[in-house]
Amino acid sequence: MFQIRKALVGVLAVLFMLPAAAQSGEWLLRDANVVTMTGAPPIASQDILIRDSRIVAIEDTGRLTTKGRVVEVNGAWVIPGLHDMHVHLGTEQMLAMYVANGVTSIRVMNGNQSLLELVSGVADGGIFGPNIFLASPLLEGQPPLWPQSEPVTTPEQARQLVERYASEGYRAIKIYDGLTAPVLAATAEEAKRHSLPVVGHMPDAIELEQLLVHDPASLEHVGGYLPGWFSGGRQACDIPEWQLTRLAGRLAEAGVTVVPTLSLFHQSSNADSRELTRAQPEFNALPPGITGQFWLGATPEPGSERARAANCKSRNAERFTRALIAAGGSILPGTDSPNPWLVPGRALHLELERLVAAGMPPEQALAAATVDAAAWFGDKDRRGTIETGQPADLVVLEANPLEDIRHVGAVTGVVIRGQWQSQASLRQRWQPAAGSEAGL
Ligand SMILES: [Zn+2]
Repeated sequence: MFQIRKALVGVLAVLFMLPAAAQSGEWLLRDANVVTMTGAPPIASQDILIRDSRIVAIEDTGRLTTKGRVVEVNGAWVIPGLHDMHVHLGTEQMLAMYVANGVTSIRVMNGNQSLLELVSGVADGGIFGPNIFLASPLLEGQPPLWPQSEPVTTPEQARQLVERYASEGYRAIKIYDGLTAPVLAATAEEAKRHSLPVVGHMPDAIELEQLLVHDPASLEHVGGYLPGWFSGGRQACDIPEWQLTRLAGRLAEAGVTVVPTLSLFHQSSNADSRELTRAQPEFNALPPGITGQFWLGATPEPGSERARAANCKSRNAERFTRALIAAGGSILPGTDSPNPWLVPGRALHLELERLVAAGMPPEQALAAATVDAAAWFGDKDRRGTIETGQPADLVVLEANPLEDIRHVGAVTGVVIRGQWQSQASLRQRWQPAAGSEAGL
């Protein structure tokens, strides 16, 4: 059954491949098993009517008619578009990779002027890509870890910067290592005044309770805020379970969203997983500057201290995430792509797999990547569900992701802002033309 369906979906996807420009107005996605993510169980054999960028009706197959075209998916599974809540951006090619892998919304964690332009390019349709939520440039202390950061050392400077970032259109303020307590307080206060969420790392000089006072909207990665993460100048491997449980309970109680980026740690510690990544078709399409110097250069030598540290980080990240799941904490999936061995879009599938491996039920992992992620943005008009009136950002899958979360990787087509894109047409968008440079 699975094989037959797979073959049918493939054939039909090719039959109905049309250029995006030809698709406006109304059309029908026919015969889907719909995973609505409203809390209701999946509904078999549904037709979804889409007009412009929205879902206008969902009915049993055969009931709806349209003068527009019909895309048959023959019992494929349809889920809401996925969110990757922690990425960095380089090229337009990467934007296409996200969409091709069903990631229709991304939260970009380090903004700059050219990314602001990219966001408007996508919003006005000139550039093909997912919906983008762009956080501000990093607010770093002195000395900055990243050369492009402007160090922030006084509360006055923090207020001015937040004011500027708000007026430039960034949607969150990203705090980073090296901020002092008075600078952090001024940053959080000013961000609140502009209704901007504060997201990012826990600065080194700040205690967890000092940070929680400022109500951070998300805490990125798993790291320095874990007691004994780093001790005696070495990466710790054996944080006592009770400490992880206590921290998880405190974060759950405070309602802080954690984006643990398990895939980031997993890739630096797991050679088999890196080999799987190398076999992904996107791997060879990425610029050699990324997959070569950057990714290969960052890969620890087997048996080295770096390899040991990477294993310990990954183990502790997974243990802490397991404790946070058990405590009922808020967890959203993010990858930190394109950091080493994280292919834009594909890495989100890996992140969901790792969350499930850490004890999250597949339904909860899928909710985290759709309805929970959408709720984090707080836009009532975009709930991350498949319902009448909602934006038509959908992913067509060969098989049921609630049965096995790895099925989120079997994407046969995507609907982005109401436009149908078959896997073949999506691939053309990220695949470099023969003979051209991989970089865009
Ligand atoms: Zn990051």
